[in-house]
Amino acid sequence: MIEDLLRKYQPELTLIRQDLHAHPEMLFQEERTARIVADELSRIGFEVVTGIAKTGVVASITNGTSSRVIGIRADMDALPIHEQTNLPYASRYPGKMHACGHDGHTTMLLGLARFLAETRNFDGTVRLIFQPSEEDEGGAMKMIEDGLFERFPCDRIFALHNLPGEAEGQILVRPGPITASCDVLTIVIHGVGGHGALPHKSVDPIVAASSVVLALQSIVSRNLDPHDPAVVTVGAINGGSMATVIPEQVRLLVGIRTVTKAVRELVLRRIQDLAMAHAKSYGCSAEVQMGVDSWSYPAGFNTADEAALVRQVALDMGQDPEKIDMRGPFMFSEDFSAMQEVVPSCYFGLGAGPGPMLHDPGYNFNDALLVKGPAFWARLVEKALPQA
Ligand code: ZN
Repeated sequence: MIEDLLRKYQPELTLIRQDLHAHPEMLFQEERTARIVADELSRIGFEVVTGIAKTGVVASITNGTSSRVIGIRADMDALPIHEQTNLPYASRYPGKMHACGHDGHTTMLLGLARFLAETRNFDGTVRLIFQPSEEDEGGAMKMIEDGLFERFPCDRIFALHNLPGEAEGQILVRPGPITASCDVLTIVIHGVGGHGALPHKSVDPIVAASSVVLALQSIVSRNLDPHDPAVVTVGAINGGSMATVIPEQVRLLVGIRTVTKAVRELVLRRIQDLAMAHAKSYGCSAEVQMGVDSWSYPAGFNTADEAALVRQVALDMGQDPEKIDMRGPFMFSEDFSAMQEVVPSCYFGLGAGPGPMLHDPGYNFNDALLVKGPAFWARLVEKALPQA
């Protein structure tokens, strides 16, 4: 039984996971994490290459004679969040935290690696891809730019994310759209500042900005097909500092999530049009600047065969199809989508049981998944690369 062998590794894997948790790294500075990953995989016989997109690692193992290759990706980075778990292995670095469980994603692949090296019940090549900087600045794109798939070709690739709030070990998957694109833009509304008691001698950008915020609410409700999911959130509105002064400008920060290119383009165009028109109707002008946060991620798309494989493995494990099949895509974004644009692929969810949500300062990865996650990966590898 796959789980029996993985349970043998569990105490050591738990120590590795908790050590990574205590030493969170981010933004292409995942040097310690990459070293631990590379050392462990070299030790058990993988062919290891480091330094892809600075701190990325690719480790390959071949068994048998088949030329088939599958890739499995884990993200290694943490978040700029101050941990509030009071765990004995809580972050030792103030303001940095593994609040998304990438410490667990990384360790689950180390568990899979041990299993594959010991059992060798597959025919072909498995590549484990450890990527930096998923949370910001697109580590996946940087690895692709650094020749990831030319240097390490893969026929198909897979990645998962742990999901607090879903039953422990539950697989969630669907073919087609799977994660949202993420765009961030800034709208600057320019008016004419002046004395708060003399509004007729000013052009008030705060009133115009208020109108723009309300107008943006109509994009999802009035411009989109009800079957097309999208989110438009004004997450920041800044302007002015006193009750008695009309400011010169107001800045709005807008976050946009969509799952298709057509909807993304429509939403971005409507934001532009509404901001300009509403600002103008109050005598102001509006400037719309794309991508202030320096990155945007494309929407993720699961190819049919790869999604069917993940689903079949979950069914083989006795999971309920009602719970496996997602009704719609995740509305969060994931830079694995950049890899999905070049290789047939599937991204899916792995239930983590009850607990604080991802990106919460109280979040912690559920170590029970250090058996359940690698067990799922092992079955997927054995099904994708069967021995003759
Ligand atoms: Zn994450």
